Amino acid sequence: MDAMTDRLPASADVVIVGAGVIGAACALGAAEAGLRVAVVDRGPIAGGTSGAGEGNLLVSDKGPGPELALALHSRERWLAMVESTLDAEAIELETKGGLVVAATPGDLGALRAFSRGQRASGVAARDLPADALAEYEPHLAKGLSGGVSYPQDMQVQPMLATAHMLRAARRLGATVHTGVSVTGIDASGVRTSRGRIASPAVVNAAGTWAGDVARLAGVDLPIEPRRGFILVTEPLPALIRHKVYAASYVSAVASGEGDLQTSPVVEGTRSGTVLIGSSRERVGFDRSYPLAVLRRLAAEAVALFPVLASVHAIRSYRGFRPYAPDHLPVIGRDPRAPHLLHACGHEGAGIGLAPGTADLVVAALAGTAAPVDPAPFRPDRFVDAHGEMPHV
Ligand SMILES: Cc1cc2nc3c(=O)[nH]c(=O)nc-3n(C[C@H](O)[C@H](O)[C@H](O)COP(=O)(O)OP(=O)(O)OC[C@H]3O[C@@H](n4cnc5c(N)ncnc54)[C@H](O)[C@@H]3O)c2cc1C
Repeated sequence: MDAMTDRLPASADVVIVGAGVIGAACALGAAEAGLRVAVVDRGPIAGGTSGAGEGNLLVSDKGPGPELALALHSRERWLAMVESTLDAEAIELETKGGLVVAATPGDLGALRAFSRGQRASGVAARDLPADALAEYEPHLAKGLSGGVSYPQDMQVQPMLATAHMLRAARRLGATVHTGVSVTGIDASGVRTSRGRIASPAVVNAAGTWAGDVARLAGVDLPIEPRRGFILVTEPLPALIRHKVYAASYVSAVASGEGDLQTSPVVEGTRSGTVLIGSSRERVGFDRSYPLAVLRRLAAEAVALFPVLASVHAIRSYRGFRPYAPDHLPVIGRDPRAPHLLHACGHEGAGIGLAPGTADLVVAALAGTAAPVDPAPFRPDRFVDAHGEMPHV
């Protein structure tokens, strides 16, 4: 990557707070729309949740509704970006497809009903009987009840995708400033730890910290951390072809429970390591590494792929998903502070949803038609009739 700009610009058409995958996608979209863009992050590029998760671009885990519409649009946009602007090899984009498997006939019935609904909403989903699974994934456990194949699921390396989107934005004139905190927001721009940038528009792409950034502009947003761990194996020969997960993952994603939830999610990477997830729990920014959670992830992955029993886990890491109480991202202009737009709260789907989010933000900035209905994502939806925020 070439060097970042040290000096802040005096002014910009839009300041983007956050250099994670969402801020990067918004920066690229706004620069392509001809706007003068400044991106500001208090840490490094992808130093927040975008550097602490996986890179699945999934339609398979989303039921019919606004998030699925945004995911399908985003998928098209990822493919268009690697046609026009980004190098698929450089961001490790793989159109590998997903496979969801059911351990019991009951799970399979629920999975089939789910996939029926998805098909009606434009998702490619193929029901597989038990005896077809081995052909898809030769190392899968025996005795599973069946599955559904999702050829539209894809994967990227999220840190590389973030960095390359920012690089492309910079080629179009955007400036990127790391190690700079935004400390105030008003109608004339932002105050930072290194001075002011005058701007008529500010995009809050601060991920799990978006509630703090919203407060700088005098508005509340109920974004909270939802912790997740990943186990990484030693590099292996190609054992796992798709992104493979258990049907129970979908209910874990949709659940609002604060307690620990795990369900096996297994995928290979370009470097040979296998990533094993996934856990979800709302424990604030607790940075400890409870061994019990990592053991549970390992045991569930081995139950899905017995071949992993003899493989070493070489490290683990964790991140804090930006969680909104209704599991939908918060995107668009905030009527309570019209100079402020939000692009946050994507929970476990921010990598996948980044390009579609950027399209909605650019449409809001330019006053043009949005490619999907933006209403379900509107920032003031949490405010009740008395102007109060619900307790999260
Ligand atoms: C274990 C795990 C697995 C995941 N797997 C997937 C997956 O497979 N697919 C998928 O789509 N998503 C996945 N996710 C979710 C995904 O990682 C997030 O939704 C996404 O990274 C959020 O991106 P972001 O840009 O909004 O936030 P971040 O990447 O956190 O970026 C926000 C940035 O804002 C900056 N910031 C905050 N406050 C300020 C301030 N005052 N001034 C300046 N800068 C500030 C921070 O430093 C940070 O860099 C996973 C998450 C976890 C934890």
